[in-house]
Formats: sequence, structure tokens, C-alpha cells
Amino acid sequence: MPDVFADLVGQDEAVTELRRAAAAAAAVLRAAATDRTPALVAAGEAETGAGTPDPGTGMTHAWIFTGPPGSGRSVAARAFAAALQCAYGTGCGECPGCHTTMGGTNADVRLVVPEGLSIGVGEMRALVLRAASTPSGGRWQVVVIEDADRLTEAAGNALLKAIEEPPPRTVFLLCAPSTHPDDISVTIRSRCRVVPLRQPPATAVAEVLVRRDGIAPDVARWAAAAAQGHVGRARRLARDPEARKRREAVLAVPRRLTGVGAAFDAASALIEAAEAEAEASVAEADVAERAALETALGAGGTGRGAAGAIRGAAGQLKELEKRQKSRATRAQRDALDRALVDLAGFYRDALTMALRAPVDPVHTDTAALAGAGAQKWDAEGSLRRLEAVLACRAAIEANVKPRIAVEAMMLALWKG
Ligand SMILES: [Zn+2]
Repeated sequence: MPDVFADLVGQDEAVTELRRAAAAAAAVLRAAATDRTPALVAAGEAETGAGTPDPGTGMTHAWIFTGPPGSGRSVAARAFAAALQCAYGTGCGECPGCHTTMGGTNADVRLVVPEGLSIGVGEMRALVLRAASTPSGGRWQVVVIEDADRLTEAAGNALLKAIEEPPPRTVFLLCAPSTHPDDISVTIRSRCRVVPLRQPPATAVAEVLVRRDGIAPDVARWAAAAAQGHVGRARRLARDPEARKRREAVLAVPRRLTGVGAAFDAASALIEAAEAEAEASVAEADVAERAALETALGAGGTGRGAAGAIRGAAGQLKELEKRQKSRATRAQRDALDRALVDLAGFYRDALTMALRAPVDPVHTDTAALAGAGAQKWDAEGSLRRLEAVLACRAAIEANVKPRIAVEAMMLALWKG
């Protein structure tokens, strides 16, 4: 039976550190138990011959998991959370602590997954307050914050206060792309231990697709290379024909850039594809949430209270719509970013071919096209195009309107 760290692909160093910390955390709990009920635990300790553990080694209250998208930041944080709740302190994968944490139902593990563009201060204050309570399972209160780089400044300050004076049994696990001040404030960073994850090699990604998802080896190898080390993306490419179709449409862009008009058409197509993908990904949740809220508010009721309830409901529905809009915007940007990463891979292939670098192409299925590009553009022209794609990503990240950034990129790709 694989333990909770089994899904962390190609991250041996990080896993070693986390295992050591989980063991140290378990030792802290044993030591605390010894203090409170010396007689009871002393017998057990004498039996196993365990000495007094040093609570200062290995474990700490605040952690940041960093790494490129898809490297497994949130996978690592969840696995570590499970190891902290594990009855054996190892993340065995079989005990109730491991099971409930991995299944998302452990009462002492709170998961913050921002659906909008940022995590607000209200949400963070409520979270910090609850995290200060005594863990009901007797181990740790764990708060996992995915995308901690999306904290608003006020939310970051609320979190900082909690990290500066952590309740004795509370552990914060933050996930962010890097420890750059744009991603995480310097003061929060200074209070956390950093666990850097790397982009897993394609061979490791392919191996996990075969072993865990039962994907055929040749498909797994292709998807792992095409996904450029992003495990979740590789799995989607291997399994979802729609995802493959979208990728093919993106990789057809370089061929289609034959003039100014074609460049604008390509920009529109890319934006609209991202919108459609995002809409499909959030539509189901939107409908379900609205139905749940309407039921809770008693919409359609005919009792005497119904009219008043509906008046109060308007505000709540508005709030829900605001949240859903923010989530849709985020989903659109994520979809567009995936497309840009694919496109960058194509020009990176052209560049490595122009330089005759002995590396495998990212996109094996468009390698011939990239080779033709390499001949036409040479290394310099290929690099300029790659830079145009990266500049577009950076512009969108800096809040330039996506359509404007993508149009500028397409023109640059056409002109070279
Ligand atoms: Zn366990």
C-alpha cells in the first residue's frame, strides 16, 4: 500500500525532509502526553526504550511549498498534513488520520482553495480564528493555503499575526510559485520554512501516469513531455480528448500567422477558446451553488415569511454572483496561461533545434514544424518569438487586458 507521499513525483529531497518533520511532530505529541500523564506514557516509553525527543528538531509551525505550476505544491502540503494527522506519524496511508485528510474530511485540516482572484481578509480572519482552537483529534490543527500568492495584503497581515504567535498545536502550510516578494511577503517568508519543489522530469511523470492511472506507456511518455513537467496537465492530456483538441488548436497558431488579419484572427480564436474552456469548467458549480442558495433562502416558498426572505435574499444572490464572476475570470486566465505555455514550448523547440542543442522536443507531434521554423527564423528569430510569448504571460499576470496582450503577441510572432 503506497503511503501519502507516493503521489509526489520526482521530489525525493522534499519527501525526506517532510518525513523527518512528521516524525519530529509525532515526537512532540508524545512528549506533551508524557508531561500530562507521566505514569501512563512512561511505561510505554520504558518498554520501547524511546528517549525524550527534542521538539526543536525537524518540526515548525509554518511552511511554504514553492515550485512551478504542476510540480505538486498542494499535493506535498496535503500529504504532509496527512502525515501530521497519521496515527503512526509517518503518513502510512491506511490509518483514519491519513484517510480523512487525503479524502478532505478531517475535522482538523482546513483547506483554502481560492476560487476567485484573491483570498480576502474576511475569509482569512475566520480561518485564523478557527485554526486557534484545540484539535479535536488530539494532534494538530492544520491550515493548508493553496495559492498563498493570491492573498490580499490585508489577508496576508491577518495570516502574519497568526504565524508570528502560533497557537501551540496549529500548523500553517502555504503554497506559492516562489518566495519572490511578489508571491509572498518578506515578513511571512521570514517566519516560514521553505520546501522547494522542482519541475519533475518527464520520465518520472510518465512513470506515475502508468503506475497510478493505468495509462499506456507510449501515451504516458507523450503526455508527460507535452505537459512540460505538469503532472495534472499530463494526466488530462492523456485522458481527455477535448484537452488534446485544444492543445492541437494552440499548436496550429504558428502555421496560421500569415498576415496582420490572420494574427488578429488567431488572437480572437485563442481568447475565445480560453473563455469556452473556462465556462465549461465552472458552469456546473455555478448552477449547483445557485440552486443550493435558493433552496436555503426558501425561494419559491408561499408562506407568510417568504416575501421578506426573498427581499433579504437579493443581497446574498448578488454576493454569490460576484464570487462566481471572480472565479470565472480566474479560470479564464488559467486556461489562457496553459495555452501560452504550450505555445512557448513550440518556440522553445524551434530555438533548441536552431542551436542544435541535444535535448528532446517538448512537443514531439509538432517537432517537424518547429524544425522548419528553426531553419526560417534561425536561433535569434526563434528566441524573439519565445520571448514574445513569455512577455504576453507576464503582461497578463500584471493585469494587462488579455485580448490586448494576446494581440500584441500574435503580431510579434508574425513579424518576428
Ligand atoms: Zn497514517
